[in-house]
Amino acid sequence: MSDAAALPGQPRGLVVSGPATARAVNVLAPNPSAMTLDGTNTWLLSEPGSDLAVVVDPGPLDETHLRHVIETAEKLGKRVALTLLTHGHPDHAEGAGLFAELTGTAVRALDPALRLGDEGLGAGEVVSVGGLEVRVVPTPGHTSDSLSFHLPADRAVLTGDTILGRGTTMVAHPDGRLGDYLDSLRRLRSLTVDDGVHTVLPGHGPVLEDAQGAVEFYLAHRASRLAQVETAVENGHRTPSEVVAHVYADVDRSLWPAAELSVRAQLEYLKGRGLV
Ligand SMILES: [Zn+2]
Repeated sequence: MSDAAALPGQPRGLVVSGPATARAVNVLAPNPSAMTLDGTNTWLLSEPGSDLAVVVDPGPLDETHLRHVIETAEKLGKRVALTLLTHGHPDHAEGAGLFAELTGTAVRALDPALRLGDEGLGAGEVVSVGGLEVRVVPTPGHTSDSLSFHLPADRAVLTGDTILGRGTTMVAHPDGRLGDYLDSLRRLRSLTVDDGVHTVLPGHGPVLEDAQGAVEFYLAHRASRLAQVETAVENGHRTPSEVVAHVYADVDRSLWPAAELSVRAQLEYLKGRGLV
Protein backbone atom coordinates (compact mmCIF):
# COMPACT_ATOMS: atom_id res chain seq x y z
CA MET A 1 0.00 0.00 0.00
CA SER A 2 1.35 3.42 -0.83
CA ASP A 3 0.63 7.09 -1.12
CA ALA A 4 2.46 7.07 -4.40
CA ALA A 5 -0.21 7.62 -6.98
CA ALA A 6 -0.88 11.22 -6.09
CA LEU A 7 2.65 12.54 -5.83
CA PRO A 8 2.91 15.32 -8.39
CA GLY A 9 5.57 15.28 -11.06
CA GLN A 10 6.29 11.55 -10.89
CA PRO A 11 6.75 9.94 -14.30
CA ARG A 12 4.23 7.19 -14.99
CA GLY A 13 6.46 4.27 -15.88
CA LEU A 14 5.31 1.41 -18.01
CA VAL A 15 4.79 -1.75 -16.02
CA VAL A 16 4.67 -4.91 -18.02
CA SER A 17 4.61 -8.54 -17.05
CA GLY A 18 7.76 -10.32 -18.10
CA PRO A 19 11.45 -10.74 -17.41
CA ALA A 20 13.09 -7.99 -15.34
CA THR A 21 16.46 -9.57 -14.64
CA ALA A 22 18.06 -12.90 -15.60
CA ARG A 23 16.37 -14.57 -12.61
CA ALA A 24 13.18 -12.54 -12.05
CA VAL A 25 9.95 -12.45 -14.05
CA ASN A 26 7.02 -10.21 -13.10
CA VAL A 27 3.46 -11.48 -13.32
CA LEU A 28 1.31 -8.40 -12.71
CA ALA A 29 -1.85 -9.01 -10.65
CA PRO A 30 -5.07 -7.40 -11.95
CA ASN A 31 -5.69 -5.29 -8.83
CA PRO A 32 -4.74 -1.71 -9.79
CA SER A 33 -5.80 1.10 -7.45
CA ALA A 34 -4.54 4.32 -5.90
CA MET A 35 -2.99 2.19 -3.14
CA THR A 36 -1.57 -0.62 -5.30
CA LEU A 37 -0.47 1.46 -8.36
CA ASP A 38 -0.63 -0.79 -11.46
CA GLY A 39 -1.37 -3.82 -9.29
CA THR A 40 0.73 -6.20 -7.23
CA ASN A 41 3.94 -7.51 -8.79
CA THR A 42 4.07 -11.27 -8.26
CA TRP A 43 7.70 -12.30 -8.75
CA LEU A 44 8.73 -15.62 -10.25
CA LEU A 45 12.40 -16.32 -9.46
CA SER A 46 14.55 -19.08 -10.90
CA GLU A 47 18.15 -19.92 -11.65
CA PRO A 48 18.76 -20.11 -15.42
CA GLY A 49 18.75 -23.76 -16.47
CA SER A 50 16.94 -24.93 -13.35
CA ASP A 51 13.42 -26.33 -13.52
CA LEU A 52 12.50 -25.03 -10.06
CA ALA A 53 11.05 -21.61 -9.27
CA VAL A 54 10.32 -19.55 -6.17
CA VAL A 55 7.28 -17.26 -6.12
CA VAL A 56 7.37 -14.08 -4.04
CA ASP A 57 3.96 -12.57 -3.15
CA PRO A 58 1.26 -14.57 -4.94
CA GLY A 59 -0.93 -11.47 -4.54
CA PRO A 60 -4.66 -11.06 -3.91
CA LEU A 61 -7.07 -13.99 -3.71
CA ASP A 62 -7.74 -14.11 -7.45
CA GLU A 63 -7.69 -17.64 -8.82
CA THR A 64 -7.22 -16.51 -12.44
CA HIS A 65 -4.10 -14.59 -11.46
CA LEU A 66 -2.75 -17.45 -9.32
CA ARG A 67 -3.25 -19.91 -12.21
CA HIS A 68 -1.61 -17.41 -14.56
CA VAL A 69 1.48 -17.40 -12.30
CA ILE A 70 1.65 -21.21 -12.45
CA GLU A 71 1.15 -21.20 -16.25
CA THR A 72 3.88 -18.59 -16.67
CA ALA A 73 6.26 -20.84 -14.74
CA GLU A 74 5.25 -23.86 -16.84
CA LYS A 75 5.80 -21.97 -20.11
CA LEU A 76 9.33 -21.26 -18.90
CA GLY A 77 9.78 -24.97 -18.18
CA LYS A 78 9.68 -24.46 -14.42
CA ARG A 79 7.75 -25.85 -11.48
CA VAL A 80 6.93 -23.66 -8.48
CA ALA A 81 8.77 -25.19 -5.52
CA LEU A 82 8.38 -22.55 -2.79
CA THR A 83 6.36 -19.45 -1.95
CA LEU A 84 7.77 -16.49 0.00
CA LEU A 85 5.96 -13.40 1.33
CA THR A 86 7.43 -9.91 1.72
CA HIS A 87 4.72 -9.08 4.30
CA GLY A 88 1.16 -9.87 5.25
CA HIS A 89 -0.88 -7.14 3.55
CA PRO A 90 -3.75 -8.78 1.62
CA ASP A 91 -2.70 -7.42 -1.79
CA HIS A 92 0.50 -9.49 -1.40
CA ALA A 93 -0.52 -12.41 0.78
CA GLU A 94 -4.26 -13.07 0.59
CA GLY A 95 -3.85 -15.53 -2.31
CA ALA A 96 -1.03 -17.45 -0.61
CA GLY A 97 -3.26 -20.16 0.89
CA LEU A 98 -4.92 -21.06 -2.41
CA PHE A 99 -1.62 -20.72 -4.27
CA ALA A 100 0.02 -23.14 -1.86
CA GLU A 101 -2.85 -25.56 -2.44
CA LEU A 102 -2.60 -25.26 -6.24
CA THR A 103 1.19 -25.73 -6.25
CA GLY A 104 1.64 -28.01 -3.23
CA THR A 105 4.30 -25.64 -1.89
CA ALA A 106 5.09 -24.34 1.56
CA VAL A 107 4.64 -20.63 2.31
CA ARG A 108 7.47 -18.98 4.24
CA ALA A 109 7.13 -15.55 5.88
CA LEU A 110 8.38 -13.69 8.93
CA ASP A 111 4.95 -13.67 10.59
CA PRO A 112 4.18 -17.22 11.85
CA ALA A 113 0.45 -16.60 11.19
CA LEU A 114 1.17 -16.38 7.44
CA ARG A 115 3.24 -19.56 7.16
CA LEU A 116 2.05 -22.80 5.66
CA GLY A 117 4.49 -25.58 6.50
CA ASP A 118 7.12 -25.95 9.18
CA GLU A 119 9.74 -23.46 8.11
CA GLY A 120 9.91 -19.83 9.10
CA LEU A 121 11.94 -17.10 7.49
CA GLY A 122 14.37 -14.93 9.39
CA ALA A 123 17.06 -12.31 9.16
CA GLY A 124 20.21 -13.33 7.34
CA GLU A 125 18.76 -16.61 6.18
CA VAL A 126 19.72 -17.83 2.72
CA VAL A 127 17.05 -19.68 0.77
CA SER A 128 18.45 -21.97 -1.92
CA VAL A 129 16.19 -23.54 -4.54
CA GLY A 130 17.57 -25.19 -7.67
CA GLY A 131 20.81 -23.22 -7.44
CA LEU A 132 19.02 -19.91 -6.90
CA GLU A 133 20.24 -17.98 -3.87
CA VAL A 134 17.87 -15.62 -2.07
CA ARG A 135 19.15 -13.74 0.99
CA VAL A 136 16.57 -12.59 3.53
CA VAL A 137 16.96 -8.95 4.61
CA PRO A 138 14.68 -7.73 7.42
CA THR A 139 13.19 -4.35 6.45
CA PRO A 140 10.51 -3.53 9.05
CA GLY A 141 8.77 -0.15 8.98
CA HIS A 142 6.05 -0.29 6.32
CA THR A 143 4.86 -3.16 8.51
CA SER A 144 6.66 -4.93 11.35
CA ASP A 145 6.89 -8.14 9.30
CA SER A 146 8.33 -6.62 6.11
CA LEU A 147 11.20 -8.52 4.47
CA SER A 148 13.28 -7.77 1.41
CA PHE A 149 14.92 -10.47 -0.69
CA HIS A 150 18.42 -9.96 -2.06
CA LEU A 151 19.29 -11.76 -5.30
CA PRO A 152 23.09 -11.40 -5.31
CA ALA A 153 23.55 -13.08 -8.71
CA ASP A 154 21.35 -10.41 -10.35
CA ARG A 155 22.58 -7.57 -8.10
CA ALA A 156 18.90 -7.00 -7.39
CA VAL A 157 16.64 -6.71 -4.35
CA LEU A 158 12.92 -7.42 -4.03
CA THR A 159 11.58 -4.74 -1.72
CA GLY A 160 7.87 -5.52 -1.33
CA ASP A 161 6.25 -2.26 -0.15
CA THR A 162 9.41 -0.90 1.50
CA ILE A 163 10.41 0.78 -1.78
CA LEU A 164 7.91 1.11 -4.63
CA GLY A 165 8.56 1.59 -8.32
CA ARG A 166 6.85 4.97 -8.26
CA GLY A 167 6.18 7.57 -5.56
CA THR A 168 6.73 6.67 -1.93
CA THR A 169 5.26 4.22 0.52
CA MET A 170 3.40 4.51 3.83
CA VAL A 171 4.37 3.59 7.36
CA ALA A 172 1.33 1.64 8.53
CA HIS A 173 1.06 2.88 12.13
CA PRO A 174 0.90 1.38 14.73
CA ASP A 175 2.31 -1.88 13.33
CA GLY A 176 4.79 -0.01 11.14
CA ARG A 177 7.24 2.32 12.91
CA LEU A 178 9.17 5.19 11.36
CA GLY A 179 12.42 4.57 13.26
CA ASP A 180 12.44 0.98 11.98
CA TYR A 181 11.62 2.18 8.48
CA LEU A 182 14.55 4.63 8.38
CA ASP A 183 16.89 1.89 9.66
CA SER A 184 15.58 -0.40 6.91
CA LEU A 185 16.22 2.22 4.22
CA ARG A 186 19.78 2.55 5.52
CA ARG A 187 20.13 -1.24 5.40
CA LEU A 188 19.00 -1.19 1.77
CA ARG A 189 21.39 1.66 1.03
CA SER A 190 24.23 -0.46 2.36
CA LEU A 191 23.16 -3.27 0.00
CA THR A 192 23.54 -0.82 -2.89
CA VAL A 193 26.83 0.68 -1.68
CA ASP A 194 28.58 -2.37 -0.19
CA ASP A 195 27.00 -5.28 -2.09
CA GLY A 196 26.64 -3.74 -5.54
CA VAL A 197 22.86 -4.00 -5.76
CA HIS A 198 21.62 -1.79 -8.60
CA THR A 199 18.12 -3.05 -9.38
CA VAL A 200 14.98 -2.69 -7.26
CA LEU A 201 12.23 -5.20 -7.97
CA PRO A 202 9.34 -3.53 -6.12
CA GLY A 203 6.01 -4.90 -4.89
CA HIS A 204 4.19 -2.33 -7.03
CA GLY A 205 5.19 -0.20 -9.99
CA PRO A 206 8.07 -0.41 -12.44
CA VAL A 207 11.53 -1.90 -11.90
CA LEU A 208 14.13 0.68 -10.84
CA GLU A 209 17.63 0.44 -12.27
CA ASP A 210 19.17 3.03 -9.92
CA ALA A 211 18.67 1.33 -6.57
CA GLN A 212 20.94 3.69 -4.65
CA GLY A 213 19.20 6.74 -6.14
CA ALA A 214 15.82 5.28 -5.16
CA VAL A 215 16.94 4.71 -1.55
CA GLU A 216 18.40 8.22 -1.33
CA PHE A 217 15.14 9.66 -2.72
CA TYR A 218 13.15 7.75 -0.07
CA LEU A 219 15.44 8.92 2.77
CA ALA A 220 15.24 12.53 1.56
CA HIS A 221 11.46 12.35 1.15
CA ARG A 222 11.05 10.95 4.69
CA ALA A 223 13.29 13.69 6.13
CA SER A 224 11.35 16.40 4.32
CA ARG A 225 7.92 15.04 5.37
CA LEU A 226 9.17 14.75 8.95
CA ALA A 227 10.31 18.37 8.93
CA GLN A 228 6.92 19.41 7.51
CA VAL A 229 5.09 17.49 10.24
CA GLU A 230 7.28 19.01 12.95
CA THR A 231 6.62 22.52 11.60
CA ALA A 232 2.87 21.85 11.33
CA VAL A 233 2.77 20.83 15.00
CA GLU A 234 4.78 23.90 16.00
CA ASN A 235 2.24 26.00 14.09
CA GLY A 236 -0.58 24.60 16.18
CA HIS A 237 -1.89 21.71 14.01
CA ARG A 238 -2.36 19.27 16.85
CA THR A 239 -4.42 16.29 15.64
CA PRO A 240 -3.21 13.80 13.03
CA SER A 241 -6.06 14.76 10.68
CA GLU A 242 -5.16 18.46 10.93
CA VAL A 243 -1.54 17.64 10.18
CA VAL A 244 -2.59 15.54 7.15
CA ALA A 245 -4.77 18.34 5.75
CA HIS A 246 -1.83 20.71 6.12
CA VAL A 247 1.15 18.57 5.08
CA TYR A 248 -0.50 16.28 2.52
CA ALA A 249 -2.53 18.99 0.77
CA ASP A 250 -0.78 17.99 -2.50
CA VAL A 251 -1.84 14.35 -2.18
CA ASP A 252 -5.16 13.03 -3.50
CA ARG A 253 -7.79 12.86 -0.75
CA SER A 254 -8.44 9.15 -1.39
CA LEU A 255 -4.94 8.59 0.07
CA TRP A 256 -5.46 10.70 3.20
CA PRO A 257 -6.40 7.72 5.41
CA ALA A 258 -3.05 6.13 4.48
CA ALA A 259 -1.32 9.48 4.96
CA GLU A 260 -2.87 9.72 8.42
CA LEU A 261 -1.25 6.43 9.43
CA SER A 262 2.10 7.78 8.22
CA VAL A 263 1.49 11.02 10.16
CA ARG A 264 0.68 9.07 13.32
CA ALA A 265 3.94 7.14 12.83
CA GLN A 266 5.82 10.41 12.37
CA LEU A 267 4.22 12.02 15.46
CA GLU A 268 5.15 8.96 17.52
CA TYR A 269 8.72 9.17 16.21
CA LEU A 270 8.99 12.90 17.00
CA LYS A 271 7.45 12.45 20.48
CA GLY A 272 9.81 9.57 21.22
CA ARG A 273 12.70 11.94 20.57
CA GLY A 274 11.20 14.84 22.53
CA LEU A 275 10.92 16.93 19.34
CA VAL A 276 7.21 17.79 19.65
ZN1 LIG B 1 1.88 -3.38 2.18
